[in-house]
Formats: sequence, structure tokens, C-alpha cells
Amino acid sequence: MVQDCLFCKIVAGEVPATVVLEDADWLAFEDIAPKAPVHVLVIPKRHLVDIGELGADPALAAAVVAGIGATARHLGLPAFRTVFNTGAEAGQAVFHLHAHVLGGRSMNWPPG
Ligand code: AMP
Ligand code: ZN
Repeated sequence: MVQDCLFCKIVAGEVPATVVLEDADWLAFEDIAPKAPVHVLVIPKRHLVDIGELGADPALAAAVVAGIGATARHLGLPAFRTVFNTGAEAGQAVFHLHAHVLGGRSMNWPPG
């Protein structure tokens, strides 16, 4: 657990979240400010800053990807978009790795 990390505090139960699904390695919970009818964040329980660090741990990377798939299946999403923002200039505001899982409406690219 990293001091002052919001998502570490959610993993620890110190900050409330609406949990969708979890296993030993990852946690899926509802985004507090949804950008789509379904907007869930999937995070590793271990603190990693971004996708670069996730790439250094292939077993955890596989677990997080499996978690994304399991969460989408659990929610009954026929289609969804997965986004990892990396770096403040790309919109990363919380520096504990998280996958945005967005769905429930047309997710055709480009967004609009
Ligand atoms: P990013 O901009 O990629 O770092 O995404 C951070 C996401 O975390 C945003 O979509 C926020 O709405 C979401 N968020 C911030 N605080 C919370 C919280 N306490 N519980 C759930 N989601 C949160
Ligand atoms: Zn953290």
C-alpha cells in the first residue's frame, strides 16, 4: 500500500467504492464520475503507477486483462472500450494503474 494513494485506500477499504467484481490480484469498481452508462475501473490490488510498470510483471498483466474480461462478462457487456491513460498529459489523474471499461452505448471510434 502506497501512502496517500486513493486507489490503494479503496483496495484497503479505507475509501468506499461500489465493487463490481474482484479476485486475489485485481478489483473492479464503479467510476465515481461515469463517462458512459457503464464505466468501471479495473485495478491491480498491488500498487503500480502505469502500464509501463504493468508490462514488467507479465503474470499480473495477464490477471488484469482477465479481470477486464471477467468484469465485462459479469456486466453483460456485448461491446466495450478499454482505456489506460498514461501520464498527466494523456489525462492520467490517479497514479495507480487502472483500466477504464466503458460501455452501454455506441462506442464507435472516434468518440463523439
Ligand atoms: P484517470 O483520469 O485515467 O486517472 O482516471 C481516474 C478516474 O478515477 C476518473 O475517471 C475519476 O472519475 C475516477 N475516480 C476518482 N476518484 C474516484 C473514487 N473515489 N471512486 C471511483 N472512481 C474515482
Ligand atoms: Zn496505489
